[in-house]
Amino acid sequence: MNENLEALRKELKYDKTDPCVQCGYCLPACPTYATMGKETHSPRGRINLVKMVGEGKITDLSVLEEPMDLCLGCRACETVCPTGVEYGSILEAARAAITRRKKYSIPVRALRNTLFKKVFPSRKAMNLIGNAMWMYEKSGVQKLARKSGLMKKLPSHLGEFEAVTPPTVSPLERSSLPRFTPAKGTKKYTIAFFVGCVMDAMFRKINQLSVKLLSEAGCDVIVIENQTCCGALHAHAGKLDETKMLARRNIAAFEKIEVDFIVNNAGGCGAMLVEYDHLLCDEPQWVERAKRFTDKSKDISQVLVLCGGLPFASHAPQRVTYQRSCHMTNVQRVTKEPVQLIRSIPNVEFIEMKEAEMCCGSAGIYNIVNFDASMEILDRKMEHVNDTRAATIITTNPGCLLQMKLGIERENKSGTLRALHLVEFLAEAAEIV
Ligand code: SF4
Ligand code: SF4
Repeated sequence: MNENLEALRKELKYDKTDPCVQCGYCLPACPTYATMGKETHSPRGRINLVKMVGEGKITDLSVLEEPMDLCLGCRACETVCPTGVEYGSILEAARAAITRRKKYSIPVRALRNTLFKKVFPSRKAMNLIGNAMWMYEKSGVQKLARKSGLMKKLPSHLGEFEAVTPPTVSPLERSSLPRFTPAKGTKKYTIAFFVGCVMDAMFRKINQLSVKLLSEAGCDVIVIENQTCCGALHAHAGKLDETKMLARRNIAAFEKIEVDFIVNNAGGCGAMLVEYDHLLCDEPQWVERAKRFTDKSKDISQVLVLCGGLPFASHAPQRVTYQRSCHMTNVQRVTKEPVQLIRSIPNVEFIEMKEAEMCCGSAGIYNIVNFDASMEILDRKMEHVNDTRAATIITTNPGCLLQMKLGIERENKSGTLRALHLVEFLAEAAEIV
């Protein structure tokens, strides 16, 4: 084998494709195979393409581009694979290899560099974005832009997403997430809260409610300043070096304090955090530190259950369903706790939707860059939501939350159906504001 091919195999993590025996058990679990019906858009087909590149049968890596772009990265295929193929690693390596070779135009390259290097990793920059969004809402510009039809003219259907973006908190409220919130009653755990980048800028209210719920359940909650973005958006965009850099920064920041758990409230971020040890497995000086970090990383629902739940008030009966976050289900493998918490609320009837484990089509920014493919998956999801006749769709990830809100708009159901993050739903039931 020539040196170039050997280097390419290493770059593509070709060895990870070895356990794939081409059985096809993963096909029915794959949303893109279900909606597109093409072998190249199935897990088996994508793995085969990587194999063929690694074996020198395909020499042009751009052949990988569309199948890998259209993969949601939901990793449902991993959960059904009988030979334990690590599809997530194969996908990540393929995307990074494609990105390294891709010739972006100068403006696109500049935009990507600014977003991935300067904006997402900086809490200051994300706070500025959050404050700018608040100004946009409160100044009347939002109303004007919506009324004038300008939003409909935005590229990549951004106007449709803008319409379902939740209101942001004021700059004054934004600056008030306390560094330390004591446990109410007897202290059970000390936790460090992971704020995230998008969660903190756009969904600050959910972060504030998360801290209050954890305190109510018996946790001392610490919010450390120098934490940064988890790196999930970078990994999805094929920027592996930056992902590793962010992982190292977070590990170094959180190991400075002694806590029982590092808690997050976003399925996608949580999935990244629990894989820092895999991500840094080739770096001997970091792997043990990464392992300690991942061992402590938990979704908020896991910690609330460990604390014994929450004191809920009694409200009028309501029927709800739960849109599972793929990354929480397939990577973190957290499935029972959110349902357990929902079921523990008086007068709440929980109805599981059909294909509950199937991705909603959000997948990071997949719904923006692959709008049509994403909407096909969303429409299928909404059919199952409608069958439950629920009045509330509960989610555990910001992307799923926006996608569900978009689904409600597409169905013209905003008067009878709402989408809430689990934290919002629990806070409402516990009368925490
Ligand atoms: S990834 Fe797993 S389930 Fe899919 S074809 Fe390969 S071995 Fe079979
Ligand atoms: S990650 Fe999801 S979309 Fe991609 S191949 Fe696996 S099941 Fe299909």
